[in-house]
Amino acid sequence: MNNFYYKIMRWFEGRYGIDNLFYLLFCFSAVLAIINIFLRLIYLQIIVYALVIYAVFRALSKNIEARRRENETLENLVIKIKRKRENTILRKQDKTHIYKKCPYCKAVLKLPRIKGNHKTVCPRCKCEFNVRVYKE
Ligand SMILES: [Zn+2]
Repeated sequence: MNNFYYKIMRWFEGRYGIDNLFYLLFCFSAVLAIINIFLRLIYLQIIVYALVIYAVFRALSKNIEARRRENETLENLVIKIKRKRENTILRKQDKTHIYKKCPYCKAVLKLPRIKGNHKTVCPRCKCEFNVRVYKE
């Protein structure tokens, strides 16, 4: 029995193992599987299997660098989402300014919060556009 355990341990050596992306894939496939109990769609079932197979493939993969990069991409995405949420909260708390996205270059402009219709010029692309402020 000890020899068997040792062989299994040896087989797992040098493989990538479990990371956050593994947990995400597994949880997502579990949620889809639970939803599919009610929907009973063959396509959804195939997606569930594919996610599980991909998660297991990643855990057993020997290409550690590629798996690490995939996980890093996920973690960067999570950081980006968190930062965006923090920015939204901070902007909502700002009582003296509003934040508007330029419709042409998508730059976010910080403008004084003065009620009414205003014309503003984007400092980045120099395009002029209207801004309506509803409340001070
Ligand atoms: Zn612009």
